[in-house]
Amino acid sequence: PRGLEVRDVVVRYGQRRGRTGTTAVDGVSLDVAAGEVLALLGPSGCGKSSLLRAVAGLEPVAGGAVTFDGSDLDGVPVHRRGFGLLFQDGQLFPHRDVAGNVGYGLADRPRAERTERVTELLSLVGLDGFGARPVAELSGGEKQRVALARSLAPRPRLLLLDEPLSALDRGLRERLAVEIRAVLHATGTTAVFVTHDHDEAFTVADRVAVMSAGRLLQVAPPEELWRAP
Ligand code: ADP
Ligand code: ADP
Repeated sequence: PRGLEVRDVVVRYGQRRGRTGTTAVDGVSLDVAAGEVLALLGPSGCGKSSLLRAVAGLEPVAGGAVTFDGSDLDGVPVHRRGFGLLFQDGQLFPHRDVAGNVGYGLADRPRAERTERVTELLSLVGLDGFGARPVAELSGGEKQRVALARSLAPRPRLLLLDEPLSALDRGLRERLAVEIRAVLHATGTTAVFVTHDHDEAFTVADRVAVMSAGRLLQVAPPEELWRAP
């Protein structure tokens, strides 16, 4: 399998007759191989989120192409792409318990399989025995662990994470970045992880793609990345 291929992608906002609008992503190309975790790193407003949303199908592509395993995703709606999404606020279903949240995407599977998968995922994210807990009682870090487990439950062919740790305090962010890396590798998940935090990108990713003002500056493994002094 070839994974994700992004070719010369352009994302624009507010384009109307006689107005050019904002070009948030200005011709970005990058590849994410099967099983690879890529961090998209750059300052606020540089277009990371817009690129991620275009890959997800949440934002139209004004130029270029997004393909997965060789097939063009143009016109393929969000829910048909087979991708998982995880945002800053995990947006758990408040009236379901932890297991009900994690098992949400598995409604079409036999009950025994769902239960097994939910138990396995809760263990992976360090929440053994949390299945029956109401999500309202969880800490911020526990909520994001549940959100991560829920996004992985249907075995997405690509997981898109948009600043999943930004709402948490520093110490917790550092610990969770290590945990997320371990969980993604244990599950063999192909992922794009958007962050403005260098340390987080370096911890989580196999390769880091650095963005600035809508363009890609460089893509390299953390140890080879050029860093400003
Ligand atoms: P980042 O994720 O790196 O913070 P974004 O992709 O959110 O960057 O934003 C890139 C640029 O696009 C910014 O100039 C931002 O103001 C603009 N932008 C983002 N979303 C919208 C929108 N829905 N409408 C208009 N402009 C937007
Ligand atoms: P539903 O919303 O379909 O009635 P639940 O919300 O009770 O189901 O649970 C969602 C999924 O999680 C189900 O597949 C169920 O088998 C599984 N599940 C429920 N409780 C637990 C638990 N404590 N540990 C592991 N899996 C559980």
